[in-house]
Amino acid sequence: MNQKFKGNLKINKQKSFSKVDIKINPKTNDKNIQFKNFKTYDILGLDCAHCAGVIEEKVANMDSIKECALNFITKELKVEFKENIDKNLQMEKIQNLISSIEAGVFIQEKNAENSKNVKESHHNKEKLIRIFLGIICFIFAKKMDILPLYIVSYLLFGYDILIIAAKNIIKGKIFDENFLMTIATIGAFAIKEYPEAVAVMLFYQIGEYFQEMAVGKSRNAIKSLVNIKAEYAIKENGEKVKPEEISVGEVIVVCAGEKVPLDGEIIEGSSFLDMSALIGESVPRKVKIGDEVLSGSINTNGLIKIKVTNEYSNSTVAKILDLLENSATKKSKAESFIRKFAKVYTPIIIFLALFLAIVPPILFNQEFSYWLKNSLVFLVSSCPCALVVSVPLSFFSGIGFASKKGILIKGSMYMQNLSEVDTIVFDKTGTLTKGVFEINKIYTNNVDEKELIKTAYALEKNSIHPVAKSISKYYIENINEPIKNVSNFEEISGFGLKAYLNNEEILVGNEKLLLNYNIKFEKSNDNGTIVYVAKNGQFLGYIVVSDIIKDECKDTIKKLNKVGIKNTIMLSGDRKEVAEYVANQVSLSDFYAELLPQDKVSIFEKISKNSKGKVAFVGDGINDAPVLAISDVGFAMGGVGSDSAIEASDIVIMNDNIEKIYESIKISKNTLNIVKSNVIFSLVIKFIVLGLALFGLAPMWLAVFADVGVTLIAVLNSMRKKL
Ligand code: ADP
Ligand code: MG
Repeated sequence: MNQKFKGNLKINKQKSFSKVDIKINPKTNDKNIQFKNFKTYDILGLDCAHCAGVIEEKVANMDSIKECALNFITKELKVEFKENIDKNLQMEKIQNLISSIEAGVFIQEKNAENSKNVKESHHNKEKLIRIFLGIICFIFAKKMDILPLYIVSYLLFGYDILIIAAKNIIKGKIFDENFLMTIATIGAFAIKEYPEAVAVMLFYQIGEYFQEMAVGKSRNAIKSLVNIKAEYAIKENGEKVKPEEISVGEVIVVCAGEKVPLDGEIIEGSSFLDMSALIGESVPRKVKIGDEVLSGSINTNGLIKIKVTNEYSNSTVAKILDLLENSATKKSKAESFIRKFAKVYTPIIIFLALFLAIVPPILFNQEFSYWLKNSLVFLVSSCPCALVVSVPLSFFSGIGFASKKGILIKGSMYMQNLSEVDTIVFDKTGTLTKGVFEINKIYTNNVDEKELIKTAYALEKNSIHPVAKSISKYYIENINEPIKNVSNFEEISGFGLKAYLNNEEILVGNEKLLLNYNIKFEKSNDNGTIVYVAKNGQFLGYIVVSDIIKDECKDTIKKLNKVGIKNTIMLSGDRKEVAEYVANQVSLSDFYAELLPQDKVSIFEKISKNSKGKVAFVGDGINDAPVLAISDVGFAMGGVGSDSAIEASDIVIMNDNIEKIYESIKISKNTLNIVKSNVIFSLVIKFIVLGLALFGLAPMWLAVFADVGVTLIAVLNSMRKKL
């Protein structure tokens, strides 16, 4: 037991702490691509996931464009223009490019909502009617066996496919589903397999129809998961406006049952807020006058008036939505792999199909039409759609699902990394502990207690460190006299604070701080974090504060061990004794104490190097941004309202419950399992059909099933629950 917790006490020998030199691994600098001069468009009529990839690539290569992300799931295209480019003039250029890639795909400025829905539902109805008429026609054709009737039903089923295929052929783009279906069916006509030709087109369209429906459903399900934006805000005078139109300082009214549209402070009324969409905690929070409320929470009862503190673009809701929207930019290895795979796979299959049609008949003098048919089956099987659609969909659904639980994942890349994590490194304060210190003991040296606390508070009130907050709280509750402002305030990460009060130098911090200033002091043997105070080189005393370990920690660490997290390590700037106590209490596998921020970085690098799997870091965003930035997966806890945490991390845990780390790992593992099962399932079925086709044993309908049927199943599978 002792052996296990020996930990590594790292005493810092560095004398001067003025030069904090933190190296951030350059390869990870691209972690937080933020779009600046950007525009988002809705994309209409895009059903082919493979084309989406092509469009994304081509648009990204345009001269005026720096970065581009196409989210096939939300059907949004987000582009960042190079500097000095007028983004309003670019839409037409992008549209022209897209039209040259895929006919019938249009972009429009985001949020022209209604036209999109109307168009798509109209399109669906028309298709159903066509399929219905086509089937009647087909039945008659089969009964009477007349070619023209076959042709009519064929056209009813597939004229749109033929048109798109023709348009694409003119553009020299041939390797797509439409093209494949066209030659396969025309080929079947050519060898006089009329019913087969028609049936294949019918089967394909029905499959497409269901597939579109499933993707649409998934899309809506995911969208409703993240549906946290209020449609409108009500001003004090009753006027309804868009949240974007409210400025800071204005007062808005939120009725019971409505979403809070903007961040602010309650100036009238009290209520319970349901923040489940933000932090994944279902117990409503009581709020009253003076409390801060976050946009995206739901007012469950009572009417409250809120003074707005952030414009919409800076609000919690906007940040969360932005983050999810941007998640398409950080693609996982799995997605990139699928794209590369599709690029190689399709041409190979087409080549094999040609080979099959030409070589056996010539070489072995066999019947041409028989081999042509096999080759057509080959062609139809060649579409890697199931993969191209279902893989990003699974990831996106996982991300949406996690966000519902108060876990914001910034991209599928992190989802995949997370599933491969075997080591988690925790920060102590505010992560494993509540970060709410209580004052246990005050020791003074030649001053009275009040004076000591007052001096400490004068500095601590300028700091957001959890220690500082607790001392401030104590002061306000027990003394609360006005104090002078300090000058030349300095916060020295890992040590404490320094400032001047009435021209006297004050130091408030840990042992190391006083040692650095050569101040004689009495060392405390108390349990807890010790805050020493010195004035003008004289030791004034110390305050013992202690933190509480979060209740759920021990359980969570156990659960983490069960899901394959081998190493749980704590890094702390606090004393060895305190760190050891916490590490012991929650059963961590290792800990390091008395670290400065730069030590945390170097130790983390060492841990990463020695670890087989990926390494995650969990911090609260205070003092640990550098480590967050170099980790494979950086978690920031307690993200609600903290900008720095949201920016530096890859995954934001909206509340400060450590169990969410476990939940997010479960979600990522389940998501990856779904991705894997989809990939394996689709490939196995594909290869079976291809194998059968090679020997002439696969009927055309089986090939169509291998395409649309498998896609449909994979899409449904990708929507499965992730936790
Ligand atoms: P950790 O989050 O692991 O505690 P930090 O780098 O945030 O690490 O802090 C390290 C140590 O520095 C704290 O344990 C405390 O002793 C001291 N310290 C930092 N900031 C303050 C402050 N504002 N007031 C007093 N002590 C501080
Ligand atoms: Mg900290």
